[in-house]
Amino acid sequence: MARVLIVGSGLTGSLSASLLRRELPNKLQIFVWEKARGAGGRMNTSRSPHDPNCVADLGAQYITVTPFYAEKHQSFYDELLSRGILQPLLSPIEGMVEKEKGVHNYVAPQGISSIVKHYLADSEVYYNRHVTHINLKEGKLEVCSNSAPSEMFDAVILTMPAPQILQLQGHIETLISESQRLQLETARYSSRFALALFYEAGTQISVPWAAKYIVNNPCIRFISIDNKKRNSESPEVGPSIVIHTTVQFGAQNVQKDKEEVEPLILEQLQQILPGLPKSIGIKCHKWRYSQVINSIPNFPGQMTLKEQPLLVCGGDGFTQSNFDGCTESALTILDVFKCHF
Ligand SMILES: Cc1cc2nc3c(=O)[nH]c(=O)nc-3n(C[C@H](O)[C@H](O)[C@H](O)COP(=O)(O)OP(=O)(O)OC[C@H]3O[C@@H](n4cnc5c(N)ncnc54)[C@H](O)[C@@H]3O)c2cc1C
Repeated sequence: MARVLIVGSGLTGSLSASLLRRELPNKLQIFVWEKARGAGGRMNTSRSPHDPNCVADLGAQYITVTPFYAEKHQSFYDELLSRGILQPLLSPIEGMVEKEKGVHNYVAPQGISSIVKHYLADSEVYYNRHVTHINLKEGKLEVCSNSAPSEMFDAVILTMPAPQILQLQGHIETLISESQRLQLETARYSSRFALALFYEAGTQISVPWAAKYIVNNPCIRFISIDNKKRNSESPEVGPSIVIHTTVQFGAQNVQKDKEEVEPLILEQLQQILPGLPKSIGIKCHKWRYSQVINSIPNFPGQMTLKEQPLLVCGGDGFTQSNFDGCTESALTILDVFKCHF
């Protein structure tokens, strides 16, 4: 069996793992290496330090489906809905703009990372493994990480944002052709900070909405009462609040540490929602590469960097920053593998 490494356990990596396993059974041995402590990537669900049941979606909030993709990716939605991983968004979101008629929104009651974990089930995943170098050796790809001995693979799929692909060292620097490099460099991402506030069970957050888009604030763009948004209010588990900053604030502060930015966000939150109860836990996260502003042109879904051994990159940078964009990318990666193996 060919040894295949998927770098990154975000939605693109995990769905690629699931599709390759289902569609090319007994041909591939699939491994996933992820630099973080857990799965999800930008579909991250963070836990309260005091209660593992009190969670908050720090990145993606809900899955918005247009009629076109509801039909095109129907089997994916049917599977997630039938297992209760997705549910219709029921709570009011103030200021949400419906960009197209007939659009549906879904939430993940267990947290948005449950989508990714569903696709990763049965995969051999190694966390805290930050890939640093990729070399060509004896017709295979040697992959080096910061925390384990290097390993040889017959094929590698890179799913991180394009600027992080360009940071990889070793032979990959010359395997990427000049024109591919120029294309990868055209990808543009917004930056944002996200803050999660965790509360004790029984705490009341008295607002009439589950989430709200904020206008006229230079720092805060979005606030959600995360458990309410996920249809998961319970007397036993404390509520959680998620705050996303504006893209402009993200750009202005992206070079700062999150510890420096956290009090700035809290100060603005106090102005928008005075009298919020005191939280028992806070997590701040910097999304340096948040959502794609300019996707990579001419390579819909993936870019094949080398045919033999196969080195492919994918992710939302080749499509768009949402569930359907990652699904499109994973499906095109699957097509490449079907032709190859
Ligand atoms: C604040 C925010 C709000 C969003 N809101 C929504 C929304 O409401 N709805 C929606 O559909 N989408 C939303 N998105 C976009 C959505 O989250 C992304 O499009 C999607 O999660 C991208 O998945 P991916 O697998 O392509 O990339 P990622 O999720 O970035 O996955 C890449 C993975 O690779 C890992 N990695 C990177 N470098 C290395 C390395 N060298 N070695 C090993 N591992 C590595 C990373 O840790 C990460 O886990 C939002 C994103 C953000 C940040």
